[in-house]
Amino acid sequence: MRWLVALLLVCLAWPALAQDRSALARVDLAHSALLAEGRDRGKPRPLELQLAVSQPVPYRVYFLDGPPRLVVDFREIDFAGTDAQALPGRDLVPALRWGRFRPGWSRLVMELPGPYALRMAVQRPAEGGAGGALVRLRIEPVPQDEFATRGNALSALWDLPAPAAVAPLPPRRAADRPLRIAIDPGHGGHDPGAQVGAIYEAAVMLGFARELSEILARAGFEVVPTRSDDSFVPLERRMTLARAGQADLFISLHADALPAGEAAGLSIYTWNPQADDRATRELAMRHDRTDLLAGLDLAGTDDQIADVLMDMARIETQPRSEAFAKFAVSELNRAGIVMHRRPMRGAAFSVLKSPDIPSVLIELGFLTDPGDRANLFDPEWRARTAGAIAQAASLWARDDAARAALSRK
Ligand SMILES: [Zn+2]
Repeated sequence: MRWLVALLLVCLAWPALAQDRSALARVDLAHSALLAEGRDRGKPRPLELQLAVSQPVPYRVYFLDGPPRLVVDFREIDFAGTDAQALPGRDLVPALRWGRFRPGWSRLVMELPGPYALRMAVQRPAEGGAGGALVRLRIEPVPQDEFATRGNALSALWDLPAPAAVAPLPPRRAADRPLRIAIDPGHGGHDPGAQVGAIYEAAVMLGFARELSEILARAGFEVVPTRSDDSFVPLERRMTLARAGQADLFISLHADALPAGEAAGLSIYTWNPQADDRATRELAMRHDRTDLLAGLDLAGTDDQIADVLMDMARIETQPRSEAFAKFAVSELNRAGIVMHRRPMRGAAFSVLKSPDIPSVLIELGFLTDPGDRANLFDPEWRARTAGAIAQAASLWARDDAARAALSRK
């Protein structure tokens, strides 16, 4: 199923991009190409379609048979005046067409020399930072019985969602209301989190979240809690609650366990699916596993549809998350809070996956470390830590608003 049908992108808001959003994306042929891998031995080869577009564009990809074709539906590219036959590498495939498909949608159809499967679909900001993006689709030949198509061509013509059904992301915060911060105490209910003796991460985090929320409220922020008692809240629901509460920032709070000596000190994580350190991967897996054990099927949300959608929106959100993490590290430092030797880190924590809300996960410490444990039970340490986080939120909010204003110019 993973490589089957495709990627439907339902987000359309790129509020911080400078260009006129009413204009449709256009293809830049000079920076687009169809590339083949390896030497031509008369057999189908892996292919990569690179399409340079003037602004990021939602799209989805799937295959059709009879003859085998790759179909990419964009919402929306203005292909007018751009000749598909002029795409460099066009002769690597039997046929290539593109154009307007129906209102709100345009379509690219590439006839293939045999059955293929999608191996990669990404959209990244174009180099040079002019607001453009590069869509890269990599496909590889597969045996006929692994060729996953999406029914027949006729159904593909009819099952496109109506553009009106595609919900835009909520607008970025209006300047005239207080910044809203989602506070997410990790775990809860039948998922106690890390346990050391009679100490449960879920309970410790709930306590800290209450103190932090109070300090934030006193500093003029609005707080959106993802849980306020000892109940189980699935990871995805936590993000949904933050979005429903129109949170501008999402802070997840944890104090996990790792074998003694492996981890000590506070660290702040932002989303990074390529996190390379073993301990971090182990933590991410543990968080997700609890969700899976709760009987939730993550497959539906964690597939490529979600991933590509998030890749796109994260082009804008990720630097904002990292900016908050930087403010937090510097304020915590200033408050004399002892941090992990690498305090700013990346991890594939599912709860950080919101594409549109800057998100961080703070490991306040590790329950397995005696020093960290003592800190977590020290009211003075907690107050200093919460104060530094609130101060970081203030500085970040100001900085973030200034950047948003800049990019609108
Ligand atoms: Zn945790």
